Amino acid sequence: MNYDVIIVGAGPGGIFSAYELIKLNRDLKIAVFEAGNALEKRKCPIDGVRIKSCIGCESCAIMNGFGGAGAFSDGKYNITNQFGGTLFEYIGKNEAIDLMKYVDEINLSHGGEGTKLYSTANSEIKRMCLQNGLHLLDAQVRHLGTDINYVVLENLYNELSKKVEFFFRTPVEKVERITGAENTSNAFAEAGAGYRVFTKDGEYTCKNCIISVGRSGSKWMETVCNDLAIPTKSNRVDIGVRVELPAEIFASLTDELYESKIVYRTAKFEDLVRTFCMNPHGAVVNENTNGIVTVNGHSYEDPSKHTENTNFALLVSKHFSKPFKDSNGYGESIARLSNMLGGGVIVQRFGDLVRGRRSNDERIREGFVTPTLNATPGDLSLVIPKRILDGIIEMIYALDKICPGTANDDTLLYGVEVKFYNMEVELSENLETCHKGLFVIGDGSGVTHSLSHASASGVYVARYICGTK
Ligand SMILES: Cc1cc2nc3c(=O)[nH]c(=O)nc-3n(C[C@H](O)[C@H](O)[C@H](O)COP(=O)(O)OP(=O)(O)OC[C@H]3O[C@@H](n4cnc5c(N)ncnc54)[C@H](O)[C@@H]3O)c2cc1C
Repeated sequence: MNYDVIIVGAGPGGIFSAYELIKLNRDLKIAVFEAGNALEKRKCPIDGVRIKSCIGCESCAIMNGFGGAGAFSDGKYNITNQFGGTLFEYIGKNEAIDLMKYVDEINLSHGGEGTKLYSTANSEIKRMCLQNGLHLLDAQVRHLGTDINYVVLENLYNELSKKVEFFFRTPVEKVERITGAENTSNAFAEAGAGYRVFTKDGEYTCKNCIISVGRSGSKWMETVCNDLAIPTKSNRVDIGVRVELPAEIFASLTDELYESKIVYRTAKFEDLVRTFCMNPHGAVVNENTNGIVTVNGHSYEDPSKHTENTNFALLVSKHFSKPFKDSNGYGESIARLSNMLGGGVIVQRFGDLVRGRRSNDERIREGFVTPTLNATPGDLSLVIPKRILDGIIEMIYALDKICPGTANDDTLLYGVEVKFYNMEVELSENLETCHKGLFVIGDGSGVTHSLSHASASGVYVARYICGTK
């Protein structure tokens, strides 16, 4: 039962570390433990007819399983150091970009060929944004789309499963350090240390352990850090809404760039509000994090699955200073409020919000934008703190200058969108904890917040373990 490497979590971080490990050394014995299901068994029961909203499955098909939180995502791989994580602070800017490009090549060779790579470089849109107090961040974006992303994951699994042992529906409960004296197996003779992981089905040991448990594993990650005395820093939380409007209104941006990350500094509080996760012709979806229902969005590459709407998030980051440390708890409490009032996600027309009245079924029905998510009409001002909501309203008016129609009365706002960030685990420049051979990568480390950065961190650690770094 001894492995050279145990990987905890089969999201992009875990998948790409396994991929690179076997590519560099086919003799390595590798196991991947995943709390969720194999890819083909990941089925969210919400069908919009019999089951309309989240029923809190034991393992959330959207967040857990092979492919991780990214499996049914829009598959937007952003090649940039300007957002998506701070991997470059550890491994350097050039290396981070090179690794993201390498991940892109692997995706292309596993089913993603033919998908489009967008770029913000030298764009006219950048000038227009600047003229209106908006800042367009630089990036290249590979849009796989939910459908092609799935094909890529299928192909990667078929290849990996020939060499790597996968244990699905097997959450790791605990990670323990094995000291040299205790560890008598040959594999560990040189290093004299390793790790034992505990699951409901038994214990397994390894020389190197890569933890890549994503956002859904953030609470568990905290217990690992406490048990092994790994220092952590508290992090931030992003709070906001998902905006949905007719695709034509944003077409000038999305046709050229697909995804644009735009930042705005509010006049009132000088807070930064930013666009996030733009889905042209996409759908708004529920997201369940630890039993709390928040909102997200995705879209398909396949035109037959396109909707008439575009959606994107507007988010404000909240950083806390001493003595408060529980930034995720703060975000959860706000999302819980919307769940309490609306039984899940709340939807409101922009016109109703600025007039200080709730939306109801009739107003939503009579609006010219048909919601793609079945959410409860309500009043977001009862849920989202005033300062954040004021910033979002200001930014909608700013966006209206570059995409007229954004501030229309019928523009829909869904709340709450919360981006929970893991606390940041203290790591070396090689993403290794204070314990030799124990690595924390991907979103679970607090270092990355995106598909491309999480995947790149997996490749980096695999190369380091194999001694090619
Ligand atoms: C709806 C949605 C859309 C998104 N769209 C995009 C996008 O277009 N572009 C983008 O860049 N990012 C997107 N993201 C974010 C992106 O999916 C994540 O940044 C990325 O998946 C992080 O990869 P990861 O491997 O670090 O973690 P994850 O993908 O979260 O994978 C972690 C895995 O670990 C497993 N796990 C957790 N705890 C344990 C445990 N104790 N034992 C065993 N297994 C465990 C989980 O089940 C999960 O499968 C989206 C996220 C969502 C939810």
